[in-house]
Amino acid sequence: MRSCQRLSRPFVGIVTIVFLTGCAASQPRVAPAPPVPAARAATAVAPAAATTADLQQLVNDAYARFKDVRDGTNADYIPELAKVPSDLFGVAIVTARGDTYSAGDVDHAFSIQSVSKPFTAALVMEQQGSDAIAQKIGVEPTGLKFNSILATQIIPQVSVNPLVNSGAIASVSMVQAKSAKERFNTILDYFDRLSGAKLKVIEDVYKSEAATNQRNRAHAYILAAEERIYSDPMEAVDVYTRQCSIGVTAKQLGVMGATLANNGVNPITQQRVLEAKYVPKVLAIMMMAGFYNESGMWAYSAGLPAKTGVGGGIVAVVPGKMAIVGFSPRLNPAGNSVRATKAIQYITDQLGVNLFGSGR
Ligand code: GLN
Repeated sequence: MRSCQRLSRPFVGIVTIVFLTGCAASQPRVAPAPPVPAARAATAVAPAAATTADLQQLVNDAYARFKDVRDGTNADYIPELAKVPSDLFGVAIVTARGDTYSAGDVDHAFSIQSVSKPFTAALVMEQQGSDAIAQKIGVEPTGLKFNSILATQIIPQVSVNPLVNSGAIASVSMVQAKSAKERFNTILDYFDRLSGAKLKVIEDVYKSEAATNQRNRAHAYILAAEERIYSDPMEAVDVYTRQCSIGVTAKQLGVMGATLANNGVNPITQQRVLEAKYVPKVLAIMMMAGFYNESGMWAYSAGLPAKTGVGGGIVAVVPGKMAIVGFSPRLNPAGNSVRATKAIQYITDQLGVNLFGSGR
């Protein structure tokens, strides 16, 4: 882990310097801003101060600013998630060069949940091309909750996308395999390559969700009735549930995101995991649907492709530059982590990396 970049020019240029030249020895010129109330955080640091901060300082700062926020509650519709300590909080940046900057509980493995969805869609693209996702699942945002049965029913052809539950179950059903076991192992192996780690299912989370996932089974049967699921429906739900129960740390999730930021090459292992031509497709669906029914507001405020999960993880991708990850179990009503959202928003604002801006 690097922790000593000194940034002495406006951030957009500086980020490039960090990637090309690595770590400079001296300290930031400006002392970190003191923690401020969450509501003011995004605008509280003057851009001038931000230009002399560094990525480690920025991550520390984001952590300090939001660590005392108690808004939201753990997901409890999966009983095991209600037991996860609510105060856990981690923030990480992993650059497209593979440098990691982190603060807080960034080595705690949490269940990846819906943050898994774009990565399985990527695997399907890798196996069958991106048209397969567009034609067999769809890529339109639903504007409804992640588990909305209504969304799955409204427009039978393309009402789903790979980032809501029904579309994610359909993605799993499209992974080429001869058995459920092979299907899951193919997904797990792909996630291992994306993260450069040996990931494991958190069995208690899997059992807890498997015992309570009637709604996802309903999605799968509706898809089957419309011929929009491509394996046995209950097998797809089960493999999907295992996929959602895979444990990742904020740092590992950062590497997965950094692989997307690095055009499909894992920056730690240097292995190509996704063809470069599919990276914009994955990021596009993340932009349109990564925050579920808050995707519009996220695009409006942060302007970055991102994906959230009810385990409390969020990864945002700055193409060509970095992944920004937050982990905190307390969620807002849409199912998005409150502190992770705030931390990523804050870092995005400080770096000036909103994709729809031209830097400052
Ligand atoms: N496994 C969870 C579910 O199917 C994933 C949902 C989420 O993270 N939003 O409900």
